[in-house]
Amino acid sequence: MSDFNWCHGPECHTYQTQSRVRGSGRDKVLRTRKVKQYYDRQYQWDWGNFFCDQRCLMDYLRKHMQQIIQHEPRTKPLELPINVTKTTETSQWNGRTYTQTNIERVDNA
Ligand SMILES: [Zn+2]
Repeated sequence: MSDFNWCHGPECHTYQTQSRVRGSGRDKVLRTRKVKQYYDRQYQWDWGNFFCDQRCLMDYLRKHMQQIIQHEPRTKPLELPINVTKTTETSQWNGRTYTQTNIERVDNA
């Protein structure tokens, strides 16, 4: 499939790159870039499906940050139960021993 989205970056069409120049003769414009669209489940909501690069993604986030934060407010920190253990390991590089800290999730199910 060769479907595409237009980049959602609000400033995309203002950046002066050859990849945005369209038209011929005197009728040239800077145009929003196309973004190839991936349909497989793993990537269909990846930012790369909607923005041509990270600058356009950041422009969008900056413009809409207030609405994004209001969509899912964070008034308390999130926590994940873990077990912390320490083990003594020997470096394969120089033979010295060191303390390794191991963090594992605790399944509550
Ligand atoms: Zn863009």
